[in-house]
Amino acid sequence: MSGLFTAAFLRQIGWDVDVFERSPVELVGRGAGITTHPELLAALEQSGAGTHDLGIEVPKRITIDRHGRVIGERPLRQILTSWDRLQRLLRATIDPARYHLGHNFERVEQDERGVRVHFAEGRVERGDLLVGGDGIRSGVRAQLAPDVQPIYSGYYIWRGAPNEADLAPQTLASIFPYFVFFLPERQQVIGYPIAGFNNDLRPGHRRYNFIWYRVGDAQQLRAMCVDETGHQHDYSVPPPLIRRDLIAQMRADAERIMPAAFLDCLRHIERQFFTPIYDFSAPRIVFGRIALVGDAAAAARPHMGFGVAKAGGDAHALARALDAHDDVDAALAAYDAERQPIGERIMLHGRKLGTHLGVDLKTDEDRKMWKLLQDFEAMMDWIAVPNFLAAYR
Ligand SMILES: Cc1cc2nc3c(=O)[nH]c(=O)nc-3n(C[C@H](O)[C@H](O)[C@H](O)COP(=O)(O)OP(=O)(O)OC[C@H]3O[C@@H](n4cnc5c(N)ncnc54)[C@H](O)[C@@H]3O)c2cc1C
Repeated sequence: MSGLFTAAFLRQIGWDVDVFERSPVELVGRGAGITTHPELLAALEQSGAGTHDLGIEVPKRITIDRHGRVIGERPLRQILTSWDRLQRLLRATIDPARYHLGHNFERVEQDERGVRVHFAEGRVERGDLLVGGDGIRSGVRAQLAPDVQPIYSGYYIWRGAPNEADLAPQTLASIFPYFVFFLPERQQVIGYPIAGFNNDLRPGHRRYNFIWYRVGDAQQLRAMCVDETGHQHDYSVPPPLIRRDLIAQMRADAERIMPAAFLDCLRHIERQFFTPIYDFSAPRIVFGRIALVGDAAAAARPHMGFGVAKAGGDAHALARALDAHDDVDAALAAYDAERQPIGERIMLHGRKLGTHLGVDLKTDEDRKMWKLLQDFEAMMDWIAVPNFLAAYR
């Protein structure tokens, strides 16, 4: 997302931009839902991607208890979209001849005139500037700031997206139209509707995004990262290889604690998968003629649902800085000064919201926030709400 946003915004100010993507085939999301924010909608409009058929608007948030009873609600209109839809809108802004699949960044050299970028397949590209939008495990950042490493939060999520058509009428009536919370102790289950296959927004053809936060220390996570064939993975396991005993255990745990509607969702997820939650913020996001954007620069825990909005904001700020300065180095310094603190602020806000799960509470402030978030009313007021950054301005 950050790479595509960057290309769109830089092209608007007259730069020639090429995007190099590691994947040899067009990227398709794993049924991931994305919460939207005013900043994301603005970035999509300003980049030229637009917001056509972006997603599904929910009218409100509700919290339900173990028996499925609604115990709280908040009117809050919010558009929920999907990774696939955003990728497709942004992808359409790029000339296909400028988008290069199957290019794995290997290393970069630079001097005062620009960069030489080497790809694993042997291709070498020169440019005035390299923008690393290569995600939380960025290879660009690994070369320039190898000490900056994502930090495991102490929790992970199970997720998936069942088809609307498979869900029971009771599930469709009680939770499907809403942004829903179910909050057992030290856990969070969150659900909301998203588009179906091929961005199908028609009733009956949509999906429901299911997210279940669970606490698990680094040792437990390491054990979970042993796949069905016995192979140890570093960070996560490709969905088809997740061990069957883990899935069976997860389902058994769910049967014990979840309300019927969320159990119905879980039973109809074809391929559930888990994602460990990491975060970090790089102290610098510019290194000579190389700039980092999006998750490569700073990644927050997903409690705000703000990662793509931040990616768009980084890309736009970079283009604005380059447009405002004749000197590229001065522009990059201005970009670093503007966006590094914002990335760090968003990461810290994610930690604040993560205190709900009760992991590693270090300060009085952490404990105060943990206590506040034990109230489901507070959770509805804090999790993934629009305009949370305004409080810091
Ligand atoms: C569980 C979860 C839920 C989330 N929910 C939301 C949400 O509701 N709303 C929201 O806005 N955000 C959400 N996010 C965050 C969001 O997904 C990220 O912030 C966003 O994808 C960051 O975009 P990016 O382009 O910086 O990085 P990525 O999306 O990680 O993209 C990096 C790209 O770089 C490519 N790449 C990597 N290495 C190389 C290489 N060596 N050479 C070439 N290419 C390479 C990758 O293939 C990939 O295409 C969530 C994240 C998680 C984990």
